[in-house]
Amino acid sequence: MSNKLKINFNPGPAALPQEVLQQASDAILNYNGTGLSILSIPHRGKLFAAILEESKQLVKELCRLDDNYEILWMHGGGRLQFSMVPMNFLAENDTAGYIDSGYWAHDAIEYAKYYGHVAVLASSEEKNYTELPVWPADIPSGLAYMHFTTNNTIYGTQWKTIPQTEVPLIADMSSDIFSREMNYTHCDMFYAVAQKNIGAVGATLVAIKKEMLSRIIRVLPPMLNYAAHVKANSVLNTSPIFSIYTALLMLRWTKQKTIAAIEKENIAKAKLLYDEIHRNDLFTCNIKHTDRSMMNICFTANQKEHERTFIDFCEERNITGIEGHRSVGAFRASLYNAITIKDVECLTAAMQEFESKYN
Ligand SMILES: *Cc1c(COP(=O)(O)O)cnc(C)c1O
Repeated sequence: MSNKLKINFNPGPAALPQEVLQQASDAILNYNGTGLSILSIPHRGKLFAAILEESKQLVKELCRLDDNYEILWMHGGGRLQFSMVPMNFLAENDTAGYIDSGYWAHDAIEYAKYYGHVAVLASSEEKNYTELPVWPADIPSGLAYMHFTTNNTIYGTQWKTIPQTEVPLIADMSSDIFSREMNYTHCDMFYAVAQKNIGAVGATLVAIKKEMLSRIIRVLPPMLNYAAHVKANSVLNTSPIFSIYTALLMLRWTKQKTIAAIEKENIAKAKLLYDEIHRNDLFTCNIKHTDRSMMNICFTANQKEHERTFIDFCEERNITGIEGHRSVGAFRASLYNAITIKDVECLTAAMQEFESKYN
């Protein structure tokens, strides 16, 4: 056992800023001097209503959303959204358009097929997702909606912009929300799980245009119906209060830093690591240059036997979480908002030390 904190590059559940962890811990013991733990407050009481209200306002402010959008906190993570999107918006005989840019994007496609037809408008599967597909020039106007993933967490590619589309655009922003300035309003709906840039696992953020609620095509039980969640103000059942409260702490932290400053830092962090991978004789990044992600940086060892050695080498230096996803292998360092330049410098220093020892 050790009291020393690790530098944590885990892809999610991911590192959170120390001050947010401190505030969350304080709230577990005694929330705001109420004499109650945040884990034991009523979900229909005033305390939680204030948390909900402030969190929703902050999301709108940070994403520059007007009152045409509803903000929801839901359970069930990314995969429930993969299911609910087609459940609510894709009729059996209709077609939805999907961009296939990686693991999660692909999973979303598989889930949609339970409910209706899917047109894969673009895919980079043949390139093993080491680059983004080309955004489709012609998007059929009859599509129920179009779905894409802004950042491909497992392969390390990221769309630079959010295009405008004629058909309703739905985005999975789980691994890069709040990491940069984006035209969030180009989306008719977007969602993000909490456990990357938003806070503690358990809640999923959904922003949805009011107009979308009139497009719900199925009779669904309330828990699976976006309109029912809106009507219940995200308290259809017992909400994941602690996760939403942690999200509020992160939203305050994000607002205080500003997204513009966070973006600047994220660019600098990513550059530092990509530059070192490029410079260092032992490592390579196989991801197409122009498509590389600022959030999840995937790279390989030039000698296969170095893969395990380097992970152990990092662990010995208090650096954890750099193993690639089980489907891809090698390395992935996730540089979410809570990761500092200093954290990345520790990793690049370890890479340099590794090079001097093993090259
Ligand atoms: C992490 C992640 C998810 C997570 O989905 P869960 O079902 O909550 O595990 C979904 N989409 C993307 C892009 C992710 O990065």
